[in-house]
Amino acid sequence: MLITCPYCGPRDVIEFTYQGDGNRERPDPASQNFEAWNAYVYDRLNPAGDHNEIWQHSGGCRAHLRVVRNTLTHEISSVAFVRGDHGSSARHKAEDKA
Ligand SMILES: [Zn+2]
Repeated sequence: MLITCPYCGPRDVIEFTYQGDGNRERPDPASQNFEAWNAYVYDRLNPAGDHNEIWQHSGGCRAHLRVVRNTLTHEISSVAFVRGDHGSSARHKAEDKA
């Protein structure tokens, strides 16, 4: 399976570390709503199809990526930075390698 890192281009999945389900919403850290914290820590989706996931390019640029992967075919339909655009310098760097 290949994941196309926005910085580094297509790389084998062995360079990436799965960081978890990208659908979870972390409760307010000051919250004492134990049901919300329990759901955040333990509840997981198990879809047969597209799934939002967080991956880190741990063997490369170390960026955290939001990946939409089909759990049946492993086809990846989108890859984006978790924290959005990293600025124009990052875009130029990616364009230079293209
Ligand atoms: Zn990368």
